[in-house]
Amino acid sequence: MKIMDVKTHVLSVPLEEPFAFSMGWVTKRSTMIVEIVTDEGITGWGESLCHGLQPPEIAEAVVLAALKPIVLGRDPFDVDVLWEEMYNLTRPFGQKGAALNAIAAVDIAIWDCLGRALGKPICKLLGGVYRTEIEPYATGFYRVRGKHYPAAAIEEAQSHLAKGFKAMKLKTGFGVEEDIEYIHAVREGIGSAPKLMIDANQAYNVGAARRILKAIEPANIHWFEEPISPEDVEGYRELKTLTNIYLAAGESEFSKIGFREWVSTRAVDILQPDLCSAGGFTECRKISALAQAWHLSLIPHVWGSGIGLAAALQFIATIPPAPLALKPIEPMLEYDQSSHPFRQDLIFGAINMRDGKVEIPSGPGLGIEINREVIARYERGPSGH
Ligand code: CA
Repeated sequence: MKIMDVKTHVLSVPLEEPFAFSMGWVTKRSTMIVEIVTDEGITGWGESLCHGLQPPEIAEAVVLAALKPIVLGRDPFDVDVLWEEMYNLTRPFGQKGAALNAIAAVDIAIWDCLGRALGKPICKLLGGVYRTEIEPYATGFYRVRGKHYPAAAIEEAQSHLAKGFKAMKLKTGFGVEEDIEYIHAVREGIGSAPKLMIDANQAYNVGAARRILKAIEPANIHWFEEPISPEDVEGYRELKTLTNIYLAAGESEFSKIGFREWVSTRAVDILQPDLCSAGGFTECRKISALAQAWHLSLIPHVWGSGIGLAAALQFIATIPPAPLALKPIEPMLEYDQSSHPFRQDLIFGAINMRDGKVEIPSGPGLGIEINREVIARYERGPSGH
């Protein structure tokens, strides 16, 4: 099999109701999708993570200018070799950020080709499944104009519980005292049963994060995600010794090289690489192996369209529990419940929660089909339209 073409699709749509997190206002949902066409008529799809404030065009430029010339004419079964070539040839201007997001999208599309060629889901190609369904947790709780907090958050929490979620993650990072009051109020509002996590999206330094960690201990928070900047790995290690709340980070880290220090120094309890950002299946399975060797939990970050969601599920199926006990600590699916106009339509609504669980698709490749009408509807050409 040979790769005959690599196409990119930038999809973007303004949100009817913009929402805020600690870094700013999200006014649109965008993504960059890669379509790989082979000489055997098999097409594979991949997605590049697009953070709330991230222009999708950067990763697109990397794919078209730097990665496409590397993979054209090559055998997709050489996927590991192709990954290393993409990484090494972009190293002087890559290693992290949009360059790695771009490699991730190409890698996911190549794996989709392999799965479709063999008639197997990607999780089976990666060594098999530890689970066929996964418990999701709700990501949401962004702030919108005109609503009052914490009342609006407690209302949102009730709607997640009504859908069957047993775990959810609050957006924090709006000020130390405000966060402390907010976290206690939400815990009081929802009762003690639901698992509650918090995510500050790097809003604090070690001192501020320490104050929050100490003050919220009675609220039984499962993990505190990105309390501080990802550049401050030493700060994470410092915080970890001060609390029994799990520390989590990794959505802003890339490749096995990037994760090396996080893992080898046990800077956090839970690693959160994003498949569509940290390097795709090829690299994330290596990050997973590093995590396993150091007995760390790995719960991927997920914030993309249906393609990213499907890819995450394929990967999650293959993550070994750390350790593999009779009642192991299982990973969870980050299931973004915030507004995303094409998350589901793009994959014909194929991924859903039933009875509090999300099933891992068992069809070939990513296990989903792509709705090209949705691509056409939201695609933005080079002119910006
Ligand atoms: Ca996060």
